[in-house]
Amino acid sequence: MTLADHPRHPLLFGPSPVHPLPRLSEALGGEVEIWAKREDCNSGIAFGGNKVRKLEYLVADALAQGCDTLVSIGGIQSNHTRQVTGVARHLGLGCVTVQEGWVDWPDMNYDTVGNIQLTRIMGGDIRIDPAGFDIGIRDSWKAALTSVEEAGGTPYAIPAGASDHPLGGLGFANWAVELAEQEAQHEVFFDHIIVCTVTGSSHAGMIAGFALEDVDSLPRPRRVIGVDASATLDKTVDQVTRIATQTAERIGVARPLRDDEITVVVGYEGPAYGVPDAQTIEAIHLAARTEGMLTDPVYEGKSLAGLIGMIRSGEIAPGSRVMYCHLGGQAALPAYAGAPGLGRLGGDVEA
Ligand code: PLP
Repeated sequence: MTLADHPRHPLLFGPSPVHPLPRLSEALGGEVEIWAKREDCNSGIAFGGNKVRKLEYLVADALAQGCDTLVSIGGIQSNHTRQVTGVARHLGLGCVTVQEGWVDWPDMNYDTVGNIQLTRIMGGDIRIDPAGFDIGIRDSWKAALTSVEEAGGTPYAIPAGASDHPLGGLGFANWAVELAEQEAQHEVFFDHIIVCTVTGSSHAGMIAGFALEDVDSLPRPRRVIGVDASATLDKTVDQVTRIATQTAERIGVARPLRDDEITVVVGYEGPAYGVPDAQTIEAIHLAARTEGMLTDPVYEGKSLAGLIGMIRSGEIAPGSRVMYCHLGGQAALPAYAGAPGLGRLGGDVEA
């Protein structure tokens, strides 16, 4: 089976935009050319994001099975459950989302603004649960599935991040195919791809998608680098490896993946999932102030910190051309207004 054989229900505007970030490149020494591919503006549904891309394949399956309610799980400020709820509304389906206490964050509006606010506006059936951060399968999610059945509905089960699911990696395998087409259009080649990784299927899908490429036809080797934002590295690496392997098989990669195709870097995850540190804030400021490109303190600020760190250390060598995959997430920013540098408590620039 190939990727094209898998039914896909279109939810995106089309290929997500790609563009250079010349002022960010310049601010980092001007010797590495940085571009972005923008999943943060990939769809008109609930502000879009990486989950809408993944859901193109999962909802095709849900609709084929005759399911009437999407059931998923995430944290209080989950981008994922916001996108699942938006997609359900777009398709006229019901939606139940379990939202757990993944982040111990002190902003007094943390549980009313941002993603959860948007999910409530879309009429989501939100079930709050106090459990802490874990990307694995949870009993609360199973209970939500059972409750839909007991009410006479037909649920479709979507795990955290739409990742640990047989179709979870397909959306970003398709991202890799799409990027190769955009490279041909723009007559460029990206030797580094940087992506944030937590529940793993954005990163894993790309690994599988790029594994379809004929390495001998590439002008240079291509490295896909996942930047961990989970702060539970082993679980994320495990999940990335499993999903990449199963997705590669599913789309017809005719060889085992090599160990060097699965790279997760650490050092940018901050003290915990959902908690930014000084380098996260610096990265958010740098992209915002050089390019007007906004990122969040949970995910993209951390992968951006990874990109910046690897350019400064020389790990991404001068002469490289990097694609920064922006997966979305800005909707969480209001929930972090109390963090110094992200709201009114500090970080203002002197005139
Ligand atoms: N970036 C954003 C904005 C997200 O919402 C997520 C979701 O978890 C990620 C990155 C990480 O992607 P994944 O869960 O596929 O590893």
